Amino acid sequence: MSGPAAVTARVVVPVPLPRPFDYLPPSGARLPPVGSRVLVPFGRRQLVGIVVDHGSPPADRSVKLRPIARVLDEVLLDDRLLELADWCCRYYGAAPGETANLLLPGALRRVKAFRPAPKPFIELTSTGREAELSRAPRQADLRDRLITGPLARRELLESGFSADVLRRMLDAGLVRAVEDPGVIQSTAGPELNAEQRHAVSAILAARHRFEALLLAGITGSGKTEVYLHAARRMLERGRQVLILIPEIGLTAQLVRRIESRLGAPAHVYHSGLSEGERLACWQAARTGRARVIVGTRSAVFLPLKRPGLIVVDEEHDSSFKQAEGARYHGRDVAVMRARKLGIPVVLGSATPSLESLHNATQGRYRLLELTERAGAANLPRWRIIDARGRSGRLDPELVRNIRRHLDEGGQVLIYRNRRGYAPVLMCAECGWSADCRRCDAHMTWHQANASLQCHHCGVHHRAPPRCPECGSPELLALGAGTERLEDQLKAEFAEVAVYRVDRDSMTGRHDFDQLLEKVRDGKPCILVGTQMLAKGHHLPGVTLAAVLDVDQALFSADFRAPERLGQVVCQVAGRAGRGERAGEFLLLTRHPEHPLLEAMARGDYLAYARKLLAERQAAELPPATALALLRAEAHQPEAPRVFLEQAGRLLHSKRIEMIGPLPAIMTRRGGYWRFQLWLQAPDRAALAGHLAARIEALHDLPAARKVRWHVDMDALEL
Ligand SMILES: [Zn+2]
Ligand SMILES: [Zn+2]
Repeated sequence: MSGPAAVTARVVVPVPLPRPFDYLPPSGARLPPVGSRVLVPFGRRQLVGIVVDHGSPPADRSVKLRPIARVLDEVLLDDRLLELADWCCRYYGAAPGETANLLLPGALRRVKAFRPAPKPFIELTSTGREAELSRAPRQADLRDRLITGPLARRELLESGFSADVLRRMLDAGLVRAVEDPGVIQSTAGPELNAEQRHAVSAILAARHRFEALLLAGITGSGKTEVYLHAARRMLERGRQVLILIPEIGLTAQLVRRIESRLGAPAHVYHSGLSEGERLACWQAARTGRARVIVGTRSAVFLPLKRPGLIVVDEEHDSSFKQAEGARYHGRDVAVMRARKLGIPVVLGSATPSLESLHNATQGRYRLLELTERAGAANLPRWRIIDARGRSGRLDPELVRNIRRHLDEGGQVLIYRNRRGYAPVLMCAECGWSADCRRCDAHMTWHQANASLQCHHCGVHHRAPPRCPECGSPELLALGAGTERLEDQLKAEFAEVAVYRVDRDSMTGRHDFDQLLEKVRDGKPCILVGTQMLAKGHHLPGVTLAAVLDVDQALFSADFRAPERLGQVVCQVAGRAGRGERAGEFLLLTRHPEHPLLEAMARGDYLAYARKLLAERQAAELPPATALALLRAEAHQPEAPRVFLEQAGRLLHSKRIEMIGPLPAIMTRRGGYWRFQLWLQAPDRAALAGHLAARIEALHDLPAARKVRWHVDMDALEL
């Protein structure tokens, strides 16, 4: 850090370059302190950067340093946060410039002035309470929503009120915008059982120090109640609580539940917000005004004035891993952050990642188990259905079971990990299939808009009316995606509503919220969809859940496939039977005798996960060893190979096992040929350190300019 000879400021700017840059103080002024936001000349531009250190003048007198143009604010970021971002960039092999991207919301990374966000809550005025609104039914509806107390502006818009209606009511003084909704009426929630109470006291026992606690609770065991009880005690002590959740797990329902249990407004932080809204949350977190913050992975870097507890919900979810820039894992950064802050962090899941389970067995995390479903609910009964020879059509046994559950007044949830109508479109005459020109993949046929789409690179075009090879008009749709299933289910069960839940049908964030609301009325219906359906939603009316076609995952080249499959299957099964009626779960496969399925069908995820962990250990795969990938890609296959061979020589070490260059599982994607070097070592920190020490040299390799490359520490995708 700064010594007596410090005359330069080391500044990170948001550019992907492997080093920070030195600047002189602004002319006639002193050196801005570490943590300040500054405007600096960079090439012909001016950029916003952060002072991360002070330095001595360069030994080489011929190097001409430029002065900082302007100090924007002093000490915006404290040392612990700077250290965390620095650790993050080093550990994940990212450029120091990424630090600025992690720490500052978009509005603070630009020189341009930003518009402050409107006050986030809407409250009814006394005029509004009395007003005669019989000729303005939407305004009357909105008033009804506000009768019990203020609501977030966002929540009103998401529940279907237009910005226009809201503006008219604001203009007429019927409602007003307020910064804070004041006291939120809190509800006590259900009484905790013995296991839950034990978990809460374990978390609270760690309130003055760092401890990582892995809360492994079967689906429906009331993990959220445990976090919320512990969080409430932290709030009573004047501490802030940060709750991290996966990308598509954030629903209005969850936010409302958190608010009502904690009796405090939840400040929300995610990429779907406007820049002004994100800035408002960032500032509220920094000043301590935000006591409860709920956000996706980037919220792990929010400045906190009085931190007390961090919770990572659904910690196994892969959306916590950032896919570009600093490829950090939000869960692992949360643990590091809690360690630096000296506070507890709770990682919760019904299907813990093998990484966290490994840490628990090694004694680094404390394992807390919840083995009973809360209330009267029981785990669903499992059945594996042999679906050989029924490709593309609804399985008759599945149909029989759906009918029975609907007749008994239940709701049905069907999971299929494929959007679109059919995964393959093929010519019956010559065997041509519609493939992506830029990827090693079939195009998916979407019937609704008569298009072919590549789900890997996003290209799409109109489906041809006949085979482009032989001209035959007989094109076959092979297999079934969610769109086709929806059609088939509607034809078979015309008497009930069939809802499709995937990225094509749920385009706005509030679409899904509205659907969840509708389904909770309990009327018999069928939900069919992808990932979105599998995420922790509480749907008490669902009595039958089914997973269709798991077979690809059983034979995947990705060593993580069995883990992901087990998680999805267990999460989907866990949607059934959470209310008063017993639940049932069906798994359809063409390989009913597969040993993985047998292990899963026992319904004990932790036992299944421990078995997988033992296999990983035997094979010396993560998390038993650390894995980093050095990835490279280019428009032709030669350049990435050459780069990785040069890199391999540079990274050579006795302590590191190196495999490759190998092609990625999907070798060509988006027009790029993708190769990778596997780097494995027994120790994560040592492997990361080895890479960090050579990252500049990698940038300087002659072949580096001919490829796109990056390091991915703890890579999830192969
Ligand atoms: Zn053909
Ligand atoms: Zn493609």
